[in-house]
Amino acid sequence: MSTNTNKRVAVKWIRDRAKSAYEKTDHCFICGGNVDLELHHLASINYLLETWAKKLGYDITTDAGVLAIRDEFIAQHHRELYTDVYTLCNRHHVELHGVYGKSPLPHTVPLQQRWLERRRDQATGKAPVAKTTGFFKDFT
Ligand SMILES: [Zn+2]
Ligand SMILES: [Zn+2]
Repeated sequence: MSTNTNKRVAVKWIRDRAKSAYEKTDHCFICGGNVDLELHHLASINYLLETWAKKLGYDITTDAGVLAIRDEFIAQHHRELYTDVYTLCNRHHVELHGVYGKSPLPHTVPLQQRWLERRRDQATGKAPVAKTTGFFKDFT
């Protein structure tokens, strides 16, 4: 199986073209910090590209193959590329992927949104931190 060999390269081509999709805000959504900012896509672009190309029978294992379809891919995935994104500091970005994995699956999108809002409320003191510890203690 060599179909995944160029996966990262394929996504790089998409990223280069969809530059404005990777524009960040000036602060982390969770803590408001302004250093080491990164952009998080709720939907894994890797996953979207692979399933979409497979469904349409597109070959994205070569650079030429990706270049041929990237405008079509971007046009059909504006929401995922441009809207469903969060600017996070490196620490909180790493934390999110620690919870939801390297390439979060589509069904985790609402879960990620809830997690992001809860972590923000915790960081700004609006919600208690680590409430679950006490909850689980009651059942031991
Ligand atoms: Zn942060
Ligand atoms: Zn991310």
